[in-house]
Order: sequence, then C-alpha cells, then structure tokens
Amino acid sequence: MSTESQSPPALVAEHGASQAVYDTITDAIIEAEAALVALSHRIHATPEVGFDEHRSAALVAEFLSDRGFAPSVGVYGLATALQVQTGARRPRVAVLAEYDALPGVGHGCGHNVICAAAVGTFLGLAASVDTLGGSVVLVGTPAEENGGGKELLERAGAFDDIDAVVMVHPFTGPHEVASFTSLAVRDVEATFHGVAAHASSAPQEGRNALDAVVAAYQAIAAMRQHMPDTDRLHAIITDGGTATNVVPHVAGLTVELRAEFVNELVELSHRVQAVLDGAAVMTGTRVEARWDPFPAYLPVRSNAPLAGRYFTHMAGRGRSIVLEQPGLVGGGWSTDLGNISVRRPAIHPTVSICPTPTAMHTEEFGRHAISPNGDRAIIDSAVGLALTVADYLADSELRDLVREDFRAAGGAIDVERLVAAPVNAVHP
Ligand SMILES: [Zn+2]
Ligand SMILES: [Zn+2]
Repeated sequence: MSTESQSPPALVAEHGASQAVYDTITDAIIEAEAALVALSHRIHATPEVGFDEHRSAALVAEFLSDRGFAPSVGVYGLATALQVQTGARRPRVAVLAEYDALPGVGHGCGHNVICAAAVGTFLGLAASVDTLGGSVVLVGTPAEENGGGKELLERAGAFDDIDAVVMVHPFTGPHEVASFTSLAVRDVEATFHGVAAHASSAPQEGRNALDAVVAAYQAIAAMRQHMPDTDRLHAIITDGGTATNVVPHVAGLTVELRAEFVNELVELSHRVQAVLDGAAVMTGTRVEARWDPFPAYLPVRSNAPLAGRYFTHMAGRGRSIVLEQPGLVGGGWSTDLGNISVRRPAIHPTVSICPTPTAMHTEEFGRHAISPNGDRAIIDSAVGLALTVADYLADSELRDLVREDFRAAGGAIDVERLVAAPVNAVHP
C-alpha cells in the first residue's frame, strides 16, 4: 500500500519518545504477533453480544495472566468489564478494548480486531513504561453495540484519573482515518395507549393506538427533508396490536435519532417529542416516551495532536492513512467512545481490514476481521497506538498541546446535562 500525500500537522512532528523506546515497543508487539492473532481468532469464533462477553473477557484475562499481569474482570459494576494496569504514576493513559458481537452476524463489526490491537498496545507499552514514566491501563469496555458500556464505566468512575484515551476500530475501504469523528445517537421508545373496542360492532368506542404509531411514523418520514443533512432518523414499529377485530389499545415504535453535534441532537429530540405528542392528540390516545433506554452516544471529539502522532506512526508502517474522513461524519457511525472523548482527550482512528468497500455489520465484514488483512491491522494499529501513547508519556510539550487542543474544542462537557431533555415524558 502507498501512503497518502497528506502530511501530519507540523506542530507535533518534532515531539515524541526516542527511537530506542519505539524499537522496544515495536519488538514486544511483533514478538507477540502469533499470540495476538490467535486471541483475535478465538474471540471471533465465539461471538458474544453486549454484557454477555464472559468468555471473551476471560480469554483476555487469561492471555494477560499468562504474561505476568494481574487483570481484574467484573470491575465498576459490569460483569464483563476488564481492567489491568502497568506502571504506577501520572500521566495515566487508557487503552480501550471492545469485544462484543452482533446478534445474528457474530463479529460483523470486527471487535475482535479492536480487542487484540488493544492488548498488543498494552503489551508494547508495558515493555517500556518504566523508561517512559506514567502508567497505562487496559480497559475492556462491554456492549458498544447495544448498551453504552463506556458511559456506564465513566459514571462508575473507571476513567476518573485518566489523562488520555486511545482505541482503534476496523473499517472498510482502502483508506484509514487518524482523526475519526462520529455522529451522536439516542433512542426513544414510544408506547401509545388508546381504548380497545370491537373493531366492527363498536369502533366508535375505541381509540386506536396503532393509528397514532402510523401517524408518528409518517410525520418522522416527512421531517427528514427539513433537517440538517447530517441528522438521521430511523424508526421501527415494535407493537402494532394483536387482533384485527380489536381496535389496538396499545401500540409502539422506537425511533433512533442521530446528529453531528449535541445541540442538534437535543433540537431533534424536541421535534420528535412534538411528533409523538401530536400523534397522541390526533388520535385521542396517550403517549409514554421513554428516552435513552441505554445511554445516548455523543460525537467523537478527536484530539488533533494525538491523531497527528498516530498518523505519522501508521504512515511510517506504510499504511494508506488519511488525517480526516471525507464525506458524511464518521460514515454515519456512532460509538460510545464519543462520551469518553468529550470528557478528556481521546482518539478513535480506523484501521482498514478490507481494501474494497464492504458493508459493515455483515458476515462478510466479519470474515475480513480474521483475514490476513485483519490480522495485519491488529499488529500495525497496536504499534501505531502504542507509539502514540509513548510520545504522550515521554513528552510534556506534546501533553500541553493535547490539553490545549481539548480545551479549544470546548473542554470537558457535562454529558448528562446536555442530553437530559426531553426525558421520560408522559403526555395525556
Ligand atoms: Zn464496532
Ligand atoms: Zn458496530
């Protein structure tokens, strides 16, 4: 693969750890290559959905215990969360491992690659942390796909003393992106309550909850052309009644909302709530809107100096990496890493596991996650992340730049306050 003509930001190019440290880290990761690939394939072979990743977490724990570390599983109130540390001082960097799969398509998002790359990053840094100073924590974060595990870990204090966070995600297509951002996303589950009646003999006595659901669904479809291009609305009908000869007295739909910025997500939330209220008024029903059945995901805020270092290291390995994704933000993606990234500096670069675009969340993408390209992505991105963290630990000027970039992007934000409304509204 050839490198792109894009250059890393000059302001950080001269910063970083020494070549000797780079060599120690790279050697440690290359030495573990076969074991890391085997770990990736074992996790892939037994896919587990969010909050049920018991075997996957156990495989990671066993891998690390065999190498003299002392991992803990079941931390911060989540049975399948994992934590292990090397080094003992600040600055303290977290490397995040996801290992949840998708129902029906197994590792169709390639989280086995994320996990093995994170473990490789940790191993590489463990080999040089005494020289570098500071410490590195590997955190196994459950349920990226369906539960917002990172937000739950954040609320439980897992990142309280963490200065920066890194992780990598496999991606489709020839190019990978150092400075990846994503859309915010939240869900609302709406249940309409009407009045049951015989559909033929006494329809005038009924109030039709399914009519309310259909009205809401159609209004959401109509809204799509009157919102920012980067906003997204998807909806499914989850309950449409039980018998054709009974006026449905309960019906429901779930709506998913996405936006590039948190304030746009909040604005969109109010518009969707108004649609739900309006559908209830139109049909003489009552709506219960349950917002955020799992935590809202915020947009990833990519830290430019850290992304610049990662870009440099991956380009140095001959990867076809670009600094920023062209087109739709994050390719329309969302991730709970966003929630972490607005509280402290973070990066969530992508790494290509298939040069030809392949739909993600499919069995085909899952097969790429255990292909030679997928296996190479583990080692290359582990080196890329580890050298980036080494630069951060070694170089106080780089840490200043990272802090300044985070501050200039808005600093730490109060996630729960920003997405608080509208929540759990019940309207007559
Ligand atoms: Zn994923
Ligand atoms: Zn996914």
